[in-house]
Order: sequence, then structure tokens, then C-alpha cells
Amino acid sequence: MKTGNFTYMNDAMGDSLRLPDDYTPARPEFFNVERICLTRGSLDTKDRERFVERICALYSQAEIVKCLDVPHNAVDLREKDALARHDAGKRTLVFGEHRSAVRFSQEEGNTCPNYWHFSSCGFCPYGCRYCFLAGTRGVWHSPTVKIFVNLPEIISEIDRTANRLKKQTAFYLGKLQDGLALDPLSAYSTVLVPFFARHDFARQVLLTKSANVERLLALEHRGHTVLSWSLSPPEVAARFEENTPSVEKRIDAMARVAQAGYPVRAVLMPIIPVAGWKEIYTQFLENLLARVPLQRLTFGGICSYKGAKSLMNKKLGPKNDICVAMEEAASIPDGRLRYPRDLRIEIYAFLKKFVREIQADLAMALCLEEIAVWDAVGLTENLGKCNCVL
Ligand code: SF4
Repeated sequence: MKTGNFTYMNDAMGDSLRLPDDYTPARPEFFNVERICLTRGSLDTKDRERFVERICALYSQAEIVKCLDVPHNAVDLREKDALARHDAGKRTLVFGEHRSAVRFSQEEGNTCPNYWHFSSCGFCPYGCRYCFLAGTRGVWHSPTVKIFVNLPEIISEIDRTANRLKKQTAFYLGKLQDGLALDPLSAYSTVLVPFFARHDFARQVLLTKSANVERLLALEHRGHTVLSWSLSPPEVAARFEENTPSVEKRIDAMARVAQAGYPVRAVLMPIIPVAGWKEIYTQFLENLLARVPLQRLTFGGICSYKGAKSLMNKKLGPKNDICVAMEEAASIPDGRLRYPRDLRIEIYAFLKKFVREIQADLAMALCLEEIAVWDAVGLTENLGKCNCVL
């Protein structure tokens, strides 16, 4: 099979070296597209042109800007203020090519294992007020919502990497994006899930807040795609997760994909110690565990860089629950701001104990934490078995 400059022979590739074309694109909820930018590489082949055109046709009211000499991360949003630029980015859909979309993470200064991740899309249309991703360097300068049209090349890079490693390896979709929010537009799941299903070594772990699971239900997956949801209790989501699918819809989606045989995980992050948090979080966990057979549950607190904190302050006002708790936090070596360590330990230990009483054998982990916290909570045996890895 040949696409562009690449020729691949691996069985796992099957028909996957093509952009999806046998589907009807649909506008995803929660994405208000006002501007579409066609950046470098987006129209380089007939397949790409057709793929982009069909999606653009859904947004006849949007301004379409052809800027084929501009890279996907250099679109001018015509706003100087950080919050205005962030808001404009959330209303801008960018098509482009991402030539280093498959990477190994380079985290230092916390206990998270480094892992492979990939970007078939970038950032996300949702509006969580605590969003950590918004403060990372790449998104800070380029907060647009992106679809990368070089999907065949991205898949072939995953294939090459996994075959070189020769052992089951997770490729995570969710580090720099919501992994499923744009699926109604792109149908990338219909290519990615079967690719991973057929691969000897490559596995997909996908993180989302989306409820767009319709396409996933009928796909051949063989348990090689793990679907993970980012969740908060409804009371917390109502205050801090603007323009996102309701928590109820997310849990329904989780139950449906679990029924279809996918391994399903949940990440409670950031846990926010609002007034009455113990009751709010335990009621929520009781409901979640009764409805979804989870493979793994990961807890995390707020873990923000300074840029994300300043956006949060602008969205929530300086006296909000998150930032007040963070004022006291000392940053640990990875440079992220957190709540004080004692508060994190109190939260995790309380929730772990509650979960153990309901489901003694459920695997639990912490995200972006310190070893002292794992030890104090009594989860050290699960180090390295957290959300983004197998
Ligand atoms: S879903 Fe994730 S990436 Fe999207 S706004 Fe919320 S926290 Fe940010």
C-alpha cells in the first residue's frame, strides 16, 4: 500500500492508511466553529482535500481562511490578551499536518512513568475553567482546535515504533487533546480502533470527556483500545466544567462501551475540595461504580502551570476554591502548582478507603504525584500502573 511518501507492508495496517471517507460527518456538540483555517499540508492530496471539504461544508456560516504556508501552530488569532486569544482559539478549527505527532513524554520531577502518546487532533472545544492543558507552552501560544490530516503517516509511525519496541505498548491519545470530542467530524476512531485491534504490539489508551461513542460500538477492537473518561461529580462539573457533555451522559457512554467489551477507566482529576466534598465525591463514586465496570480508577488534584493558573483566575475570579487552595501550595520539581501535600493525602486516602469498601479489588492510582503521597495513601504497589499506560 502506498500513501504519499510512504509504503507499508504490515498486516495491522490493513485499509487503515487512508483518511476516513465512507462516513457522514456531523457537527459535534459543544463546538461553536466561527473560523476554519486550512494550514500547511491540509490540502496536499486529493484525499485530504475531499476530507477537509466535507467537514467545511457543515459550517457554511464560518469564515474559511486558506493559509497554506502557515504551520498548524502559528495561526494568527488576532487577539493579544491571553483569555481573548484562548476564547478565539476555541472557536477556530484548524486543519493541518503534524509531522512529530508520535512522541515519548519527557516528564521529570513526579512519579508518572514516561509513555508514548500521539496527536491525531489537538486541544479541545470544551471549556473547563481549570484546564491544565491551556497553560502548556504549545497550547498557550496556539489554543486552536486542530485536526491533523496526515493520519495515515501518524499511524505508520505508531506501527514502526511498536514493531521496533516488540512488546505491548500503549499509545496515548489525550495528553494534548480530548481524544474523542472531534470524532463526529473526523471519524478517526473508525481507522484507529481497527488498526490497534489488528496490531501485535500497539495499544491505544484514549482520554475524553465526550459522549460521542456511537461509532465505537460496532468497531472491531479486541480490547486493544482502552477508553478512559475524565469525570467530576455533577455538582463540581456544574461550577468548573463549562460547555462540556453532562456527567450523566459521560457515564451512560462509559456503560455503553463497557457493554461493547472495551476496557473502561476513569480519572477523577482535578478533585476539588469544595464545601461538602466528602459527601459529594462519595455519592458520585457510589453511582459510578454501580453503573460502570471499571478496569482502573485514577485520582489527581490540580496540577497547573502558572499560565493555566492565570487563565483560571481570569475565568473564576481570584477568590475561587481552586486558586485559594493553590496559593498555599509549594511547587514540586516538575514546576506544577498543587494543593498542599497534607490536603492531597487527606483527599486521596479518604476516597481510596471509600472505594475499597465498595469494590475491594479495583485498581487505583494517582496522577502526577510525589512518591511521598503514594506512600502515605498506601498505593505504592500500583506505581506505574496509572491511566496513560497499560
Ligand atoms: S476537556 Fe480537558 S483539554 Fe478540554 S477544556 Fe477540559 S480540561 Fe481542557
